[in-house]
Amino acid sequence: MTSYDYDLFIIGAGSGGVRAARMSASYGARVAIAEEYRFGGTCVIRGCVPKKLFVYAGRFKGEFEDAAGFGWRIDGVKFDWQTLLANKDREIDRLEGLYKKTLKNADAVSFQDRAELVDAHSVKLVGADRIITARTILIATGGHPFVPDIPGSENAITSNEAFHLEALPKRILIVGAGYIAVEFASIFNGLGVDVVQVYRGPQIMRGFDDDLRDGLSEEMRKRGVDIRVNTNVMEIAPGEDAYKVKLSTGDVLETDLVMYATGRAPNSSGLGLERAGVELGWNGHVVVDEYSKTSVDNIYAVGDVTDRVALTPVAIREGAAFAETVFNDSPVSVDYSGIPTAVFSEPEIGTVGLTEAEAREKHPKLDVYKSRFRPMKHTLSGRDEKMIMKLLVDGDSDRVVGCHVLGADAGEIAQSVAIAMHMGATKADFDATMALHPSAAEELVTMREKWQGESN
Ligand code: FAD
Ligand code: NDP
Repeated sequence: MTSYDYDLFIIGAGSGGVRAARMSASYGARVAIAEEYRFGGTCVIRGCVPKKLFVYAGRFKGEFEDAAGFGWRIDGVKFDWQTLLANKDREIDRLEGLYKKTLKNADAVSFQDRAELVDAHSVKLVGADRIITARTILIATGGHPFVPDIPGSENAITSNEAFHLEALPKRILIVGAGYIAVEFASIFNGLGVDVVQVYRGPQIMRGFDDDLRDGLSEEMRKRGVDIRVNTNVMEIAPGEDAYKVKLSTGDVLETDLVMYATGRAPNSSGLGLERAGVELGWNGHVVVDEYSKTSVDNIYAVGDVTDRVALTPVAIREGAAFAETVFNDSPVSVDYSGIPTAVFSEPEIGTVGLTEAEAREKHPKLDVYKSRFRPMKHTLSGRDEKMIMKLLVDGDSDRVVGCHVLGADAGEIAQSVAIAMHMGATKADFDATMALHPSAAEELVTMREKWQGESN
């Protein structure tokens, strides 16, 4: 029998890789893992975690404004970017330390190095110039920001740099209208930056429920984000103190910073995947089967590099399913239905299940329940902001097939509803559930009237 240095070598210590390492080691595998940048990966180092900390920072502005109606007078409010950056960096350092410790405690061997495949069973540690062999290899290399090639796009930043700006700009232009674009538009807006957001399509957040897309863009505009749809950036020209940005509408905008949030691409190039015979998909993602196995029998891949659903809990679940399948002799595939997701814009989106458009295709008899109302808090704050709650129900089975929320704590609400939906809850179950009063979420168990009009 061939002997290998390790049972498992993992390339990439992000959400998926670290979970796979810990669980595989717990099943007795001899595990090694290589990380070229920082342990914890995108989510911890330059994604979910620092982003959410920035989201909290940005939301204070609205809270201060809302406080007046409740009798608070807050004078001399000031924001200090350097304090936020330093505190955020300290927290990220702490978390990175925890990730390293977790791997050590699990008896996984960590290499701070770039790793590339030499063949199906050998990996090269590039910095150390060392070859390591393993019976199984897991690709968990994540992705990187994609920036379209237009004149001057090299002047733009991405989310990677947004976490380390030396100073907060006065004006920013954000390109794109997916998760990262709307989250950062809200963050910068909350921190007092003038934000223009440019999107090529007719409405932001393609793929989300249309009522939420319309509601979010309306509320973001009310909060001061200048959203320009059906608009492309044609050129970014650096000037003496500002960038001049040519738009497809003919307008030329002056701004201090341009940020692209136009999607992410898999980290698969230069990894030696082709050398090992691993099949890649149209955009360079690693093609895998339902057990995350690639076209090569002993090579697996999980997380963003496989371009399935680019969310941390999904990468974690895929890493865990891989460990169960390969090292616990119990094949597990991930269930991708009913994944709840939140967009930490201001206001926030929380959603689980089908959008109305998707539900209409799948369920010919669809009942729609929706409510658009002023949350109680804003009766005193005076803020002109509406919350949206929407339930989509299959008229034949009475099962709730979609839930969409726009407003405060929408993500927290969606997480709880996802449990009920996962268990197959019907509208009758929602109706039979006692309301929690006064809350916004009680709307979900008190909506009785089917929506009759043209939805959206
Ligand atoms: P990653 O976490 O990206 O880890 C891959 C690791 O591999 C990286 O550390 C990388 O340095 C390393 N690597 C790459 N190539 C090599 C190599 N050759 N050798 C060694 N190491 C290598 N998801 C959510 O669920 N909620 C959120 O709120 C959220 N917010 C986000 C905000 C931003 C700004 C971004 C960019 C993403 C966000 N995501 C969020 C998505 C989430 O971060 C990813 O889905 C998740 O991190 C994917 O995990 P992964 O294990 O596939 O890859
Ligand atoms: P998204 O796919 O969410 O959004 C990309 C945006 O860029 C879309 O508006 C897209 O438009 C636009 N776009 C794409 N290509 C071009 C182009 N060539 N020119 C102009 N616009 C373009 O990607 P993000 O980068 O925002 O985020 C990546 C992923 O990370 C997300 O999909 C999500 O899975 C994850 N994430 C999750 C978060 C969360 O859970 N809260 C937060 C942040 C990221 P169009 O719709 O027309 O294609």
